[in-house]
Amino acid sequence: MVVLVTGGSRGIGRAVVERFAAEGATLVAHFRADRRAAQDTLAALPAGDHMAVQADVADSEQARALVQTVIDSLGRIDVLVNNAGIYEEHRILETSAEEWQRIWRRTIDTNLIGPANLIHAVVPHMVSAGGGRIVNISSRGAFRGEPNYPAYGASKAGLNSLGQSLARALGPHGIYVTTVAPGFVETDMAAPYLDGPAGEAIRAQSPLNRAATPDEVARLVVFLASPGTESATGAIVDINGASYLRT
Ligand code: NDP
Repeated sequence: MVVLVTGGSRGIGRAVVERFAAEGATLVAHFRADRRAAQDTLAALPAGDHMAVQADVADSEQARALVQTVIDSLGRIDVLVNNAGIYEEHRILETSAEEWQRIWRRTIDTNLIGPANLIHAVVPHMVSAGGGRIVNISSRGAFRGEPNYPAYGASKAGLNSLGQSLARALGPHGIYVTTVAPGFVETDMAAPYLDGPAGEAIRAQSPLNRAATPDEVARLVVFLASPGTESATGAIVDINGASYLRT
């Protein structure tokens, strides 16, 4: 089984890579800039044909080339985990029009259009292989609102809808699409908040009084991509320590 994890070099993506590798899969740890982190991730895995591939998923050509590189090297992609993402602050009353547009575009390109392009590139290969799994990493912010990161919230709400639409479009082809929506997770992305003055209050949002670990998210991703969970297709699964309960 070949698993492509975008942003597999660090944080949640790295934990997902490690969990799938422990199940015996061949992993592609994709990264954008930090090659060293991707290589360190691969070095920690059990032996195998694992590889690290660079691409900016916000660039449609690079996204397609990423999929083609994996197909050329490993012959198949059984599971795509759309995990790479950015979280850039842009408070509406404090952001210039130029900066506002720049961050909206960069965020939507990375967090929503990137995954859409990767799915478009990977699906024909999954259809030829008789099926596949796609797991998208969304966020609690899609439901709760992101007052200081509105493009992020919108990108993740779009990703939720993308997953639901494609679960319906691809189910007849044996391709199952699920979405995972974490709250705060202990990664580089969340470190400025968890380690800053608001850290205690953030942890207290959950009755567990802590953020999730990357490995908790990874276990859920592996579960949703495992045989026997097909009817979960279209689901958006919260993993936020009951910090925000949707009705
Ligand atoms: P990190 O910031 O720790 O890692 C982000 C990863 O995405 C890195 O591997 C990075 O590669 C890659 N990446 C970023 N932008 C691009 C791009 N344009 N093209 C390709 N790769 C890119 O993030 P987390 O592990 O915290 O987050 C992973 C996912 O989980 C994200 O989608 C995030 O929105 C979501 N999430 C995270 C939460 C949290 O609290 N941490 C909460 C809810 C959701 P490189 O290092 O090479 O730049």
